[in-house]
Amino acid sequence: MVSRRKRSSRSISAAERRLRTLAPEASTLRETVADVVARLMLGVRCPPTDLAELGQKVGVYEIRYESIPGSGEVHKGKEGFRIICSSDQPHGRQRFTVAHELAHVILENTGKGAPRAGESVERICDMLAAECLMPTARFESFLPPNPSLDDVSRLAGKFDTSITATAIRCGQLRAVSVFGVAGDRVKWGYGGVRGGSVSRLPDDVRVNVKTVMSGGWPDATVYFHGGRCRGSYRGFEWIRSGPRSAVFLLRALDGSPGSRLVAELRAGSAGTRTETGAQSAPHGEHHRR
Ligand SMILES: [Zn+2]
Repeated sequence: MVSRRKRSSRSISAAERRLRTLAPEASTLRETVADVVARLMLGVRCPPTDLAELGQKVGVYEIRYESIPGSGEVHKGKEGFRIICSSDQPHGRQRFTVAHELAHVILENTGKGAPRAGESVERICDMLAAECLMPTARFESFLPPNPSLDDVSRLAGKFDTSITATAIRCGQLRAVSVFGVAGDRVKWGYGGVRGGSVSRLPDDVRVNVKTVMSGGWPDATVYFHGGRCRGSYRGFEWIRSGPRSAVFLLRALDGSPGSRLVAELRAGSAGTRTETGAQSAPHGEHHRR
């Protein structure tokens, strides 16, 4: 059981309090993130987001790509901020790193004593980074109600983002289940799939995931109990993201209870997304300093 004290301290961190000063009318953290970024993005080219242009708006005078030990760094000097991004990462990852460092600058710009480190700061910076690269309103205008992995790939091309970051965004905005597997671990998941051992996945899903991870071709349909399309047959899609890793997507099949839910969500008659689910899920693009 989670103690009341722990829950209340988790519900609003110092970083979140700072961010909320920039969008006091927003009610949830996700809304705050969207509002703050929407304001900063006015006049910035997107998609794909022009990170240099966005950087200039928040006081970043230089973004450099070098071989450094961590994924990214931000330095404050007399002229403003300078971001250094590790050139050893794949392209999509580099863009996420730069956006993440820009998020640190956004927090820093809230004034003296702004929080710079800690789990909550990093989580909020990841949320801001995803929003900078795939702003909710613009991203949704290209996102079908029941997206497939082909749609994820297409959007990743359009927004110049990694498959993982794009799939996570689709999982946040639509009633699909998406998750990433590396070896025998589920590294991240949205829409009813949690991180942990592959062996703890629902039966059909587990069998299919193991088939993919061992180089085989799985069934196209699985029975899945979880997420918003509870207890339904779903289309099973996958794409390899590395030699021992893959991204999976479970989408409602036409005519299934899940597709009716998707239609309701589109019409706005079903329940809205909860803040808790989005916060507790780990982010696939988290960086190391
Ligand atoms: Zn960070």
